[in-house]
Amino acid sequence: MALNLKVSSVGTRENRLGSITGYNGDLQDLVNRSRCGTLKNRERCFSQSSTCLSGCALNQLSGIRDVLVINHAPAGCSATAPGSIVLNHQLAAKIGVANDTVYVGTDMDERDTVFGATKTLRDIIKKTCEVYKPKAVFVGTSCVTGIIGEDVDSIVAELREEIDIPIAAVHCEGFKSRIWASGFDISDHAVLQTIVKQPKEKRNVINFKNFFESERKQITEIFAEFGVKTQFLYQNATVEELEHISESLATVCICGTLGTYLGNGLEQLYGVPYIRTINPLGVAGFETWLCEIGKTIGKSKEVEAYLERERAVYLPQIEEIKKDLKGLKAVIGMGPGYTYEVSRVLQELDMEVVWAAAWHYDGKYDNDQVPPALDYLQKTSPGNINLSVADQQNFEVLNILNEYQPDIYFSRHPGTTVWAIKQGVAALYVADEYMIFGYKGTLNFAKSILDTVRNRSFEKNLAKRVKLPYTDWWYQQNNGAFLKEAAE
Ligand code: SF4
Repeated sequence: MALNLKVSSVGTRENRLGSITGYNGDLQDLVNRSRCGTLKNRERCFSQSSTCLSGCALNQLSGIRDVLVINHAPAGCSATAPGSIVLNHQLAAKIGVANDTVYVGTDMDERDTVFGATKTLRDIIKKTCEVYKPKAVFVGTSCVTGIIGEDVDSIVAELREEIDIPIAAVHCEGFKSRIWASGFDISDHAVLQTIVKQPKEKRNVINFKNFFESERKQITEIFAEFGVKTQFLYQNATVEELEHISESLATVCICGTLGTYLGNGLEQLYGVPYIRTINPLGVAGFETWLCEIGKTIGKSKEVEAYLERERAVYLPQIEEIKKDLKGLKAVIGMGPGYTYEVSRVLQELDMEVVWAAAWHYDGKYDNDQVPPALDYLQKTSPGNINLSVADQQNFEVLNILNEYQPDIYFSRHPGTTVWAIKQGVAALYVADEYMIFGYKGTLNFAKSILDTVRNRSFEKNLAKRVKLPYTDWWYQQNNGAFLKEAAE
């Protein structure tokens, strides 16, 4: 789908990518329906709360150093701001820089909801710019501003004439999409629209889109072997660095859900190739991903030499630990960027994925193709896999765990991991996006699985003392019992 930077609002994933939050079936069915265009969302007649896309949009932007993020919203919408700022400071300190980003909420109240608050917004932006001297300004919107029709675009357009730094409206009204990953696209749109400049010269740099860059050092060293520098996005990036990402050799990402809009956007607008393989998790993922990068930047020989050297160190150790993991049964509950990647890695480790739940599902990415991880899984999985799509509907996850009694549950979101443990299921929180990165990460991940399934006293003791709110009635239902058939 062609990107349109002339409009300030990005189409939601539901509209752009045919993304869904309700599905219950299996791998073959999901991929086949995606390919032939018959995949439809199924609504729930009961659902628990989920997450707002504005958090993804504004938190991503607040990771950029020394910018101003304004959330034009009631106070509650900015509840995630303190956490973001603490995290930004810690991640900046880790690499020896400072991030003086300021995150401000406009604290809209009842009066603002009736009469509007564009004057207040204007005053806050100008005053905050005067005091903090940011390098760019991002003005987020909210459900309230969307419902009352607050004209944030006009305020931003007027201020472009008055302040001499980039300023963008970030349309992240929570009600417009159930898929919080739409927030990633919204932040990318704001960066592409207002920060990134036309390329002047090619630079020996790879754009690396990730979350919290815990393996920044390792990745910088790997790419240095190929004579290439890395530009991590957005955490700790400066506005000046972002201006030049249109000049890079390629864009890669640690998670397809996170990277699709920026990667495809830079390719469409400036011809920067976007690496669209499976991600660098597990052995197949790491090799496929790195070889494709090597091909794209003309460094295949160097990549092959690096892989050969590393294989000799790690593959024998991975093969050894697989003997202990063989046959263990797993349930997964993660964002779609990881669900199908981790399923593949577990199969590499000779484990069996008995159910994989994704918090949403993108029927295609911004290049109109089925996400590579799912495509790869369909072609390589030794058998079909039960799949569901549920926007963190914990009651469905616990039903699945109760029915399948897996040896281990994997999630990337702490809330659901805790509930699995309370149910007595061994669970591993795959919090760090680099936990399974490359050969070394895969080996460490395999060891963590073994530790988790062998040390069971914590969840056994906790489960004995906790009374869960789920009744036997619910456990006897199909986990998708509240999904309604999609209307034809
Ligand atoms: S923008 Fe809407 S959904 Fe998001 S936190 Fe605010 S009120 Fe809630």
